[in-house]
Amino acid sequence: MASIEMKDIVKQYGDGFPAVNGVSLDIADGEFMILVGPSGCGKSTLLRMIVGLEDITSGDMVIGGTRVNDKAPRDRNLSMVFQNYALYPHMSVYENIAFPLRLAKTPDDQVDRLVKEAADVLELHEHLERKPANLSGGQRQRVAMGRAIVRQAEAFLFDEPLSNLDAKLRGQMRTEIARLQRRLGITTVYVTHDQTEAMTLGDRVCVLRKGSIQQVASPRELYEQP
Ligand code: ADP
Ligand code: ADP
Repeated sequence: MASIEMKDIVKQYGDGFPAVNGVSLDIADGEFMILVGPSGCGKSTLLRMIVGLEDITSGDMVIGGTRVNDKAPRDRNLSMVFQNYALYPHMSVYENIAFPLRLAKTPDDQVDRLVKEAADVLELHEHLERKPANLSGGQRQRVAMGRAIVRQAEAFLFDEPLSNLDAKLRGQMRTEIARLQRRLGITTVYVTHDQTEAMTLGDRVCVLRKGSIQQVASPRELYEQP
């Protein structure tokens, strides 16, 4: 687990208005931080700079006390969950969850232990031999989360993971993500434009507007605001 510290982070695409325009934000070890704001305010860009999929124009990105500006994604040990879960259709649930461990050449007995632990946490143990096509939408989302947690990453990054789901499933997955995060106590950054997610999931909410932080507050403080 690790803290994430951002100092004066700027992202300039081309020569337009900066997509991220001097963001300073400290996310504590184990904290669940929501990034919220209107479309185009810079949420995804900020998340991609944390994970290392986007270069930082200026500023410092410090994860677990180490400056990571020049570190490749694979050296940051973070796990990102996308909204389209990107499961491999020809692989079983077991192999989908095991995939990052296979890449890292983890020994088989350790893979087996880690996959089964993740499957227990996510209540997927009865479905390990199935293919993604034979799972419900909620189960597929859980496999994607399994793949994220099995890497024992320093932090989870979510980019609108529930926006393709119907309302009922969204409610259910919201509860599961909150439960999972609390159980693992892992530092989490979660991008959404959904009010309910913003107000129910996080320890704190960071409101972005035109690339800048407008406010950082607990859901309660935001709610009680005039
Ligand atoms: P959000 O996730 O809040 O919708 P984004 O981070 O996707 O916002 O985008 C922030 C701004 O940066 C927008 O004005 C968007 O058009 C611009 N932008 C995002 N990605 C790129 C890119 N690859 N090239 C140029 N401009 C981009
Ligand atoms: P390459 O650049 O070697 O073709 P990738 O860009 O697919 O490979 O990813 C290399 C490594 O970077 C992955 O094994 C993974 O550890 C890390 N990585 C890539 N994308 C992400 C992401 N979205 N979230 C977390 N880690 C990632």
